[in-house]
Amino acid sequence: METTPEHIKCLIIGSGPAGYTAAIYAARANMQPVMYQGLQPGGQLTITNDVENFPGYPTGVMGPEMMEDLKKQAERFGTDIRYGLATAVDFSGHPHKVIIDERKEITADTVIIATGASAKWLGLESEARLNGSGVSACAVCDGFFYRGQEVAIVGAGDTAAEEATYLANLCEKVYMIVRKGEMRASKIMQKRVVENPKIEVLWNSVTDEILGEHAVEAVRVKNTLTHEAREIPVKGFFVAIGHEPNSTIFQPYLHHDEQGYLKTIPGSAKTNVDGVFACGDVQDYTYRQAVTAAGSGCMAALDAERFLAALGEH
Ligand SMILES: Cc1cc2nc3c(=O)[nH]c(=O)nc-3n(C[C@H](O)[C@H](O)[C@H](O)COP(=O)(O)OP(=O)(O)OC[C@H]3O[C@@H](n4cnc5c(N)ncnc54)[C@H](O)[C@@H]3O)c2cc1C
Repeated sequence: METTPEHIKCLIIGSGPAGYTAAIYAARANMQPVMYQGLQPGGQLTITNDVENFPGYPTGVMGPEMMEDLKKQAERFGTDIRYGLATAVDFSGHPHKVIIDERKEITADTVIIATGASAKWLGLESEARLNGSGVSACAVCDGFFYRGQEVAIVGAGDTAAEEATYLANLCEKVYMIVRKGEMRASKIMQKRVVENPKIEVLWNSVTDEILGEHAVEAVRVKNTLTHEAREIPVKGFFVAIGHEPNSTIFQPYLHHDEQGYLKTIPGSAKTNVDGVFACGDVQDYTYRQAVTAAGSGCMAALDAERFLAALGEH
């Protein structure tokens, strides 16, 4: 461990839309924010192509380009953007302690957590290869690209059921691949799926392979009872088997739900610890969009600024 801790007024952990928006606001409020980018500088949007629903880009924008724009905007006002991963925290007193890369200790008056949530994937080679070329973990983000076409979605929870219904409003047909003979989704969501004429549920089925060289062309589905395989031509393949919030190191100190999503006080970005704020997907099970992440990043910076002002430190 490096000997003298560095003291920071406002530490931002994570560099997705939430973190960068928090940085823009904190920097413009003269809080001299320092951001650690983590293992995925720019966050989840750096692994997608077209983003068509972020306001301000009338012809759409490539995900990595949009994140570069956000980074430049945060830098323009003086955000100190650094490589590094928060590996441990101590929120038991004030100032808060954060360890970076297991060796550098930081003390911070305010900490803004914007570490996002990672989509869970099936783990197939074809899924990784075709990610962004027909394979997606976000129906609301990418469903529009497949309007009028046939798609498949894998998953059996509420999110999968919701996303299947969302896709059915856009696509010609939706195959829903469900591992068991029943779904985990609530009764009402299941009913909506089963009664939707555009959704065909493939019960007791698993994805064997996603087919296509440069883009998704079909999915090979295996029935777990009969072991029969079937190839279904589809243009889009959606994975909806859940997300994992990147909150493990914070959980000993911060209230969270059973999945690990951090809890914030409704209508704010405040956590249960004074001076620690959370924004973006790490605290949002429901919306998980870039614009909602950005909005909550703004809230976190404003809450942090007001917290410092109340302490007389800003
Ligand atoms: C394939 C795909 C396509 C998508 N398309 C769209 C779209 O078209 N439109 C849309 O609105 N949304 C889209 N989304 C959703 C959108 O990307 C997310 O809602 C948004 O990125 C969430 O922002 P965030 O800032 O909360 O977190 P993220 O973007 O997930 O960023 C998290 C950041 O935290 C960092 N981090 C994590 N742990 C640590 C740590 N311990 N220390 C330091 N840093 C850490 C990571 O490196 C990363 O920089 C898509 C998502 C995916 C996966």
